[in-house]
Amino acid sequence: MSSIDPIQTALSRLGASAQSPPPNEKAAPQSAPPLEVGTPLQFIPGIGPQRVELFHKLGVRRAIDLLFLFPRSYQDIAPFQSITELEPGIRASVVGQIVDMDQRVSFEGRSSVGVLLAVDGGGYVRCVWYNQPFRRQQFLMGMRVIATGIAKSTGISFEMRHPETTILAADQPLPEAKPIPVYPLTEGLQQRHVASAVAAVLENLTDAIDEALPESIRLAANLPVDFVASEKLGGPEAKSFPPLLGIAQALRSIHQPKTVEEANDARHRFIFQELFVYQLALAMRRHRLQHDKPAPKIAATPMIHARILKRFGFELTRDQLQAIEDVRTDMAQDVPMNRLIQGDVGSGKTVIAQYAMLNAVASKQQAALMAPTELLARQHFTRLRQQLAGSQVMIELLVGSITQRERTELLQRIAIGTVDLVVGTQALLSEQVQFESLGLVVIDEQHKFGVQQRANLRESRMVPHYLVLSATPIPRTIAMTIFGDLDVSVLRDKPPGRATVHTYLGSTAQQAKWWEFVVKQVQSGRQAYVVTPRVESDAEAEIVGAEQVYQQLTTGPLAGLRIELLHGRMDGSEKQAKLDAFTSGKTQVLVATTVIEVGIDVPNATVMTILDADRMGLAQLHQLRGRISRGSFPGYVCVFAKPGVAPEENARLSVLASTDDGFRLAEQDLQMRGPGDLLGTKQIGLPPLRIADLVRDSEVLIFARRIAQKIVEQDPNLELAEHAKLKRQVTLKHGAVVSLGDVG
Ligand code: ADP
Ligand code: MG
Repeated sequence: MSSIDPIQTALSRLGASAQSPPPNEKAAPQSAPPLEVGTPLQFIPGIGPQRVELFHKLGVRRAIDLLFLFPRSYQDIAPFQSITELEPGIRASVVGQIVDMDQRVSFEGRSSVGVLLAVDGGGYVRCVWYNQPFRRQQFLMGMRVIATGIAKSTGISFEMRHPETTILAADQPLPEAKPIPVYPLTEGLQQRHVASAVAAVLENLTDAIDEALPESIRLAANLPVDFVASEKLGGPEAKSFPPLLGIAQALRSIHQPKTVEEANDARHRFIFQELFVYQLALAMRRHRLQHDKPAPKIAATPMIHARILKRFGFELTRDQLQAIEDVRTDMAQDVPMNRLIQGDVGSGKTVIAQYAMLNAVASKQQAALMAPTELLARQHFTRLRQQLAGSQVMIELLVGSITQRERTELLQRIAIGTVDLVVGTQALLSEQVQFESLGLVVIDEQHKFGVQQRANLRESRMVPHYLVLSATPIPRTIAMTIFGDLDVSVLRDKPPGRATVHTYLGSTAQQAKWWEFVVKQVQSGRQAYVVTPRVESDAEAEIVGAEQVYQQLTTGPLAGLRIELLHGRMDGSEKQAKLDAFTSGKTQVLVATTVIEVGIDVPNATVMTILDADRMGLAQLHQLRGRISRGSFPGYVCVFAKPGVAPEENARLSVLASTDDGFRLAEQDLQMRGPGDLLGTKQIGLPPLRIADLVRDSEVLIFARRIAQKIVEQDPNLELAEHAKLKRQVTLKHGAVVSLGDVG
């Protein structure tokens, strides 16, 4: 594992590493330039060409990158003990030489690796790891090792289960009992290599690193925080965080802490900084959106309000009414609305969008609705047209598949304002789409678009109001990170009369029985989806594609039913025809790929079979399941994994079956897989985080956001001298977020 190089300590004490190449490494070039933050690694004494390559793999290219290569964790060396001082149950460190090693596999298949240490001063301690066979490769006979853990007496000697270990070089003196950093590594690079490279730059450079956080912010951040309004904590509670260390101190403490507390304080500073700088970027963008150009005031008079509500054929839920109130208030201002409607699948977000659009049209403004797929755009279009039947509202569809002539003609009508509502896909973002007076933009299923794209749909004199809908149940902390510049309305309660959805984990043996059930449901008048991730089969990967599934089902268990196939490779009109046939009830069973994941709404479809579900993400599975919880009949989902995998052994599938609450699912998914996987960070524009963790550090995030908002209220463009370095950080890291493409 890790170890402290004697050179490291020596060098850092000398504080003159630039001039003194360590003896056991290739000498640095004679003409080594003085060490600066931008000095390339190959000019740093002690780092040979091979190691430079390895560091490059870790993204470390310059001296400064070494400083910001933070330890993943620390081995917290407890006081060293001799055997006679060891007390069972108490954490301690021993140092000794490896005199025996063993690797076993128990009858039940549990593996163990044992390492016997002859402890300095006499006696033995056996270190043991279960189910970590790779441990065997880390040790060699004769190595000197520090082991830290809880000792257990075995009668004759002591045993430590899963101790932390550090390998010492043969002649290396015992380090002091202080935490040893554990760095991220790549093959061929060892802990002590990293530690000594860091040490070579640490003393010389820390004072050259810019302090991005001015004292005023550090002081503010040291005050206890009142979390009264925080959803996260629910109740009034004051919380204080560790003080924010200055940059030089923080760098020293994160790499060479004397105690774990010191290391944690240093980590806190960098976690705060990382979250704070991003929240600043978002707050700045929000400020610009709100102050740059006015939006048209669109006030819904009581009469307009009542008339729009009457068009919905049902009573709105309390949350829907609240969200509509929020939207109504926002749109009446000349500050552009920037609101996110967040709600689980089937919570009825479309209603809010429809309200906003009709409100815009009632004020003689145009509105645009953008959907991520053509299928969904068409569905919205059809619904709106039905809803607006008999009214004067002119609504059109702008998607990639319309002919050039239709398109040209449509663009003209949009430009002169004879079209009130335009529903479309990304095609709406094209430069050629000019509106006469665009008052509102609605973006459905925001998570399928990048955050940046919002910027493109802008109009010159005024800016439109923005409403974005997101069905991905994003945990609050993530939403805050991604949509930190949006106001949020949440739809928690589902429309009444929704029957429950039952989720089953099916084994291969049960499949025949399940198909019988599907047939019965369909014969009683319901419809069914069969979803599989791929179009084509792949024998090697044991994937049965949609085409083959379709063949098998039509000739096998579902023979006699009206089955159709729908997948992403079909052209737009074919897809639409297939979907129309299903919507109208002509098709009873739709075999599809995940093209139907988003937004499709066929209330009579109540049965869904998901094949190869172990290949799909939890969020995606939940979206799919959302297709069948839309009517008053109970829904049934059965998920099957690939042959040989029992679905209940797949953690994601078990979670899926355990709850129907999208928010809870999202939290669990996040814990299991990290935020990147949940949403596809790139797609959504989530910044890569080096040290902060959105789940673990959610309180710091809330706190950082508040301070960011305060700063931007006072100094919206960070023009004050004391904010200059902070501004550089924001621009460097999140320039794209702040600049929005249309402001300098
Ligand atoms: P999502 O939030 O997933 O976009 P939709 O807006 O598509 O959900 O709504 C799902 C279904 O619920 C639609 O068929 C819609 O007509 C219906 N619905 C929405 N609100 C209500 C309500 N208040 N009462 C009854 N049905 C509703
Ligand atoms: Mg929807």
